[in-house]
This record gives sequence, structure tokens and C-alpha cells, in this order.
Amino acid sequence: MSVYICKQNWKMKPLVACTLSWRALSTLLPSNRKLMLRRLLHNRPKRLSEMFQKASDIPKEGETTSVSHKLFLANGIYYPSSLGVFTLMPQGLRALQKLIKIIDQEMEAIGAEKIQMPSLVPQRLWEKTGRWEAMGSELFRLQDRHQRGYCLGPTHEEIVTELVASQLNFHHRLPIKLYQITKKFRDEPLPHHGFLRSREFEMKDLYTFHATEEDAKTTYEEVLQAYENVLNRLQLDFVKAEADTGLIGGSQSHEFHLKCPGIGEDTVYTCNSCGYSGNKEVLEVDIKCPSCSSQDLESFNAIEVGHAFLLGQKYSKPLEAMYRTEDQKSRVLEMGCYGLGVSRILQASVEVLSDGKHIRWPRMIAPYQIVIIPQKKGASEARFKEITENLYQALQSVPSLQGEIVIDDRLSITIGRRVVDAKLQGFPYAVVIGNKAVEREDGLEVIDIYADCKSSTDLTVSSVIDYLCQNVKCVQ
Ligand SMILES: [Zn+2]
Repeated sequence: MSVYICKQNWKMKPLVACTLSWRALSTLLPSNRKLMLRRLLHNRPKRLSEMFQKASDIPKEGETTSVSHKLFLANGIYYPSSLGVFTLMPQGLRALQKLIKIIDQEMEAIGAEKIQMPSLVPQRLWEKTGRWEAMGSELFRLQDRHQRGYCLGPTHEEIVTELVASQLNFHHRLPIKLYQITKKFRDEPLPHHGFLRSREFEMKDLYTFHATEEDAKTTYEEVLQAYENVLNRLQLDFVKAEADTGLIGGSQSHEFHLKCPGIGEDTVYTCNSCGYSGNKEVLEVDIKCPSCSSQDLESFNAIEVGHAFLLGQKYSKPLEAMYRTEDQKSRVLEMGCYGLGVSRILQASVEVLSDGKHIRWPRMIAPYQIVIIPQKKGASEARFKEITENLYQALQSVPSLQGEIVIDDRLSITIGRRVVDAKLQGFPYAVVIGNKAVEREDGLEVIDIYADCKSSTDLTVSSVIDYLCQNVKCVQ
């Protein structure tokens, strides 16, 4: 058996793809690598025909104008369960998990620690901060068998602040940065456009606790930068806009928006003189740039994907979240809170990147990076099968591509039709095993679907690996 290794990804050496026998390879690798490799080689190939991908009816004209909502339904990315509530299907969940991985990495980079808070939030806590009243009918409220009140948490300021208040917080152990990525709930009056306005959704919420307002501001800047990193890694065109603090409260706030002329429900203004951006609530009263006083402002529709608040003591004071100063005095903590709409980013990114027909993911979070499309049923079938399986295993043995490959084994359909399907479903790369691949070793073709289907032909297995190692952008 031949095994191909892309050295670039294995050991960070210059890219060389080579062919080795199993025995030769075994002598090269430490035993844990051998075990890993054996597992890889015996992996059952992922075949498109075996994947669960229930498509649902696309809403009739007029019911939704969201491109991504139609594409997600038609391609089985999610399935509607009840009004504004969805089952995320296998491919959709893979994309979401990749997005979560990117966010986790950026949160870790600023020293935030991940926790998981309950969805059932007690009424007594929300009464202490006045939000039980203030939230009105957006809150999903319920009672347990002892008539104790709860809500399904839309955010978790109260829970996390009570948690921190229960500790003895010494000044030298600050700041505290805790975040979670969990389901949130909001009783939207008119849910629409799938995850863009839904009742149950995945959100990343980070809460930070500081000794001084100055410290809180330093963290605020770090988090804004982390959010920019997330959106840059997704290669999304975004705007950071000053915002008002609304029901969450606090002294300073920014929103992150994706420009979306079609269905964006937020209005954002950008100053043509100095580049300042602000949302409608900040600017509508007085259409004048707060930064340079210019009136040359441009407005556009956008989808809000992130929000940052400098909270001050709005929650820490009523919930008595304190810290100990150097001279053993007790002081109230200064807080910040930061949200990223994770399931909303998942869909909004597809909304802004796709045309009406084809799903376009940010490359990094495409559910699978590569689809292998072998020749349809006919002569040399056994040979095609062998080439396909070998190529699959060869790609699987490259750590950075592992798990990212699907074989489109619907062999009653022509290659051309399956390439069209791969375009619709938004696989970034297709490797085509056509007739040439049986005739000669360098008969493979790679199609970069997101680059207008740019085709690279006359490739051997190792040059396919080289190409994909260099081009595929995966979350590592
Ligand atoms: Zn300006």
C-alpha cells in the first residue's frame, strides 16, 4: 500500500509530498503516529449517498427574501421545527462547530475561560436587577412544580455576576473573563429568515470583571480586536459601529455589522470624512458625525452579528459582586459584557457571500472542504473505484485535510451534473476522477469552486495533495 504524506502539515517542513510503503512509513513514525495512521487508513470513507441531508420545501415567493434561508432549507443545512426554531442538520452542525472553534481560539487568546451556565434562569435573580419587568414579553417565562418562576436565558449577566459574587475576589486575581457558547432564547414576535431572527439560537457571551473602569476599558479594546479577528478569519466585510446601550445598560457600546443591502434590518451610518461608524440610535437624532462633525454620512442596511458593552456597576452593584483591595477594603467590580450571534454569523455570512443559487460559506467553516467526483458507472468501474479509494485515503492521511473529504458516489449521475451539485452545496474544492485518470497517473483535476470554478488539470495524486495543502483553509 502507498501512503502519501504532506510534510508541510506534519512537521512544518517545506512542502514535499512523497510515496512510501507502509513498512517504510512505520519505521519513520513514532508509535502514537503509527496508531493514528492505522486508524486513518481504516477509516470508512464518507460517501455522499449515505449522508443524511433532508431538504425541506423552499418558502413560496414573498414568504422570505433571505437567500441564505432558502439555501439552508433547500440543501438540508437546517430543518424548521416550529416557528423560529430549527434542527441543525449534520452539515450545518459541522459548519457551526468550526465557527465555534475559531471563536474559542480568539477567546483563549485574550485569556477568557469557557464555562457553561444553565438555560433555566431563576426569576429572583432577574428581579434583583429589574430586568424581569424590563424585558417584557420577549422573555420565555415558566414555573416549576413549586410555582417558582424561571426564564429561559436570553443573556446571563445575573447568573455570572452571582457566581463571581460568591467568590472572594482578590485584586491581584483580576480581571476575571468568563464566556460560554450556549443556546439562548427570545420570544420574537415575528421570527423570520431562519437564524437571522429566531427564537432559539447559539450565542457566545463573555463577561468580564475588573477592579477599575480603566482596566475594564483595556479589556473592552482587547475584545473588540478579538471580534475583528474572528470576522477577518472568516473573510467577511464588516463594520464596527458605535451603539447605544439599550436594555443591557452601561456606558459604552459597539456593534459589529455585516453590510447586507437586501435584508439587513439595522441601519448603520458611516462618515465619509473620517470613517466613523454609528448605528441608527446613535445618529438619527442629529445626522452629524460625532467624531468630526461632518454631515457627509452614508447609511446602509446591515445584519448585526456582535455587540460589546462597558457595563460599569449596573449588575455588580445590585448583586454585590465585590473584590478586595490591597489594603483589604471591599469594592464593587466593574463589568463588561460581549455577545457574538454564533448561529446568526453562520447564516449571515452565507447571506452576504452567496448568489441566489449557490451556497458560499466562508471557506474556513465550509462543512467539508473537498468532494471527490469519480467517473459514472460504466467500463473500468473497478479501476475507478480503486483510484477513488486510494485518493480518499491519501487525502485523509494529511492531518490538515483529515475528515474534510466526501466521495460523491452517486455513480448513475454524470460528472458534470455532480460538479453542478457541488457548486450548489458549496464545497470549496472538487477533485474529478475522469477517464484520463485511468489512462495515466497525472490524469486528475481539481476545481476551485469558489474561484469561479478555476480548474487545474493533469495532476498526480501527490500534486493534488500539494495543491490542496496549499489552498484549503481549515480551522486547525
Ligand atoms: Zn466623521
